[in-house]
Amino acid sequence: MMGRRSRPRGARQQEPEKHIMQLRILGCSGGIGGERRTTSMLVDDDLLIDCGTGVGELSLDEMARLRHVFLSHTHLDHIAGLPLLVDTLFNHLIERPLIIHAQPESMEIIQQHIFNWQIWPDFFELPAHSKPSVVFEAMRPGETVEIDGRRIEMIPVNHTVPTVGYRVQGSGGSFAFSGDTTRNETLWAALNAHDGLDLLVVECGFSDEEREIAELAKHYSPELLAADLQQLRHDPEILITHLKPGDEERIFAELEAAVSGRRLRRLTGGDRFQL
Ligand SMILES: [Zn+2]
Ligand SMILES: [Zn+2]
Repeated sequence: MMGRRSRPRGARQQEPEKHIMQLRILGCSGGIGGERRTTSMLVDDDLLIDCGTGVGELSLDEMARLRHVFLSHTHLDHIAGLPLLVDTLFNHLIERPLIIHAQPESMEIIQQHIFNWQIWPDFFELPAHSKPSVVFEAMRPGETVEIDGRRIEMIPVNHTVPTVGYRVQGSGGSFAFSGDTTRNETLWAALNAHDGLDLLVVECGFSDEEREIAELAKHYSPELLAADLQQLRHDPEILITHLKPGDEERIFAELEAAVSGRRLRRLTGGDRFQL
């Protein structure tokens, strides 16, 4: 359901039974340059999925409302904004820490290589070990957490490091995000296990000419994605993300030629959806 009506802030309290979920794309490029920002999307005003350079699109007030970050994996384009976000929010987080949901493997990598006092201070111990500004909530593929009526399911996918996608179910609709992945069965099976899917944000990092690189780096190219889409029994609007900078038009044109009977759209930074 792609509801288009808007609603005044605060209306949620009067209508707890039906909450319109907001999805705002902060970044959806495979790289930077010009308007391009890397992967990050905001759900309502409190929940981020991935924390690439797109997170810099948020104002300080918007950042201060964030409570949860769900990470797909540890590649830099998906976490580059995290250290700076935590530092920027430090005074707010003293009162209430930011909760990072990720696989234990991902969190270990981030703690060891980013928040290690060399690349960045260890905000898992600041301002004090007993009162950290960031906390980690381990999540395993297949698990679902519920936050204020939104059910967020972690789904394993197939990339070069441990990686997951997410399916988010609100009371009025659902969307899913593939994370970075190449061909797999797990994402499609997990999505098919539900009754419906309104939006699918799925990556297609490389053109078919670079299919070999796509397979090595474990991303989709149009042919690979077209083949996998045949596994999906739902008919969501399909939003293509993570296109290689400079190759966007070619990749999307190849995809349109390779995929039939689907509603395809190229995702753009700043896009907003209501579910
Ligand atoms: Zn990646
Ligand atoms: Zn990526």
